[in-house]
Amino acid sequence: MEDCIFCKIVAGTIPSYKVAENQLAFAFLDIHPANPGHTLIIPKRHAENVFETTPEEWRAIADLTRELSIAVEKAMNADGLNIKMNNRVHGGQDVMHAHVHVVPRFKGDGVVKPLVQKPAYHEGGAEATLEKIKAAL
Ligand code: AMP
Ligand code: ZN
Repeated sequence: MEDCIFCKIVAGTIPSYKVAENQLAFAFLDIHPANPGHTLIIPKRHAENVFETTPEEWRAIADLTRELSIAVEKAMNADGLNIKMNNRVHGGQDVMHAHVHVVPRFKGDGVVKPLVQKPAYHEGGAEATLEKIKAAL
């Protein structure tokens, strides 16, 4: 994709702090880190979000994400770690090339918890939700 900043990073036409790559995925440092070591893992091919990745690409992203989670936590001597992905505008996605965030966490770092949870399901709500998801599988 011509105008995609992450495609340009994969192609090397704009600079990045490359961390690692495998056959289908590429990882580099986030330029505005939530904490030092914040890393993004992306498919090399332009795919806008998780829905556009192929199973093979997603496996490559997952493999690199796991490998880098271990390395980043160790390297940064972190107390914890978040793996996060925003999909579509209303899922909080700003850059429209799929990417997984690996964020090392430190005690008292003040980084907000990724999900703000709501009260428990009302009576029958969990069962109805489960039915909808299973029907979509
Ligand atoms: P999201 O809000 O999930 O779409 O996250 C996009 C992320 O991309 C943000 O955390 C940005 O800091 C990061 N980002 C944007 N441009 C660059 C860049 N050129 N190099 C590294 N990270 C970037
Ligand atoms: Zn792209």
